[in-house]
Amino acid sequence: SHFIRVSEEELYTANQRLSQLASRDALTNLLNRREMERVLKEAVAYAQENKTPLSVILMDIDHFKGVNDTYGHDMGDKVILTVADAISHTIRGSDSGCRWGGDEFFIILAGAPLAVAGRVGERIRRTVESSKMPFDRSVTVSVGVAAFDVERDNELQLFKNADEALYQAKKAGRNAVYALGLGRVNSVEEGAGAQ
Ligand code: GH3
Ligand code: MG
Repeated sequence: SHFIRVSEEELYTANQRLSQLASRDALTNLLNRREMERVLKEAVAYAQENKTPLSVILMDIDHFKGVNDTYGHDMGDKVILTVADAISHTIRGSDSGCRWGGDEFFIILAGAPLAVAGRVGERIRRTVESSKMPFDRSVTVSVGVAAFDVERDNELQLFKNADEALYQAKKAGRNAVYALGLGRVNSVEEGAGAQ
């Protein structure tokens, strides 16, 4: 029975490891896209059923191709890791952060209305801007924020809205946070609010 107990433990550990590998991005350890699609479906269903707020953030590193071209792909990877850390340290345990693709990140803020998500996005933007990079230059991100509207949205529309907000943040000159319905979000501490 000792052997059986040991192998059950080993099986448990191996299973944990497998589900970790299947659900997380290898470089950043954030959730991967497939897992995030599952989490988003659940979050939308929950918000619909309970009429609770739900917001999402889609963000993308500014001029990242230039980072790769100037400093090399390994430095680029370190930049991705630094941005992932800024996200992990800003969001709460009940939020989900994901590496959506190359230099794109997607965050689900369950229970958060648009203004709260805008402030989270702004905090991440500021953290990235002031993060030490492995070279003598700062890196910035553009951040799109959208809130789920139970009357109007499904999960695809919610994602499209975040993508539209990200496009507006890029268009506003990058290193910016744009919340669909609020507009450009500035640092709340600076008392600027939405403009
Ligand atoms: P923009 O400000 O418009 O976002 O400009 P950009 O240069 O960042 O353009 P874009 O977001 O389209 O570029 C993403 C680049 O990210 C393209 C690709 O070479 C690079 N990339 C994708 N995955 C990885 C990765 O895992 N590591 C590194 N180092 N680079 C990656
Ligand atoms: Mg980019």
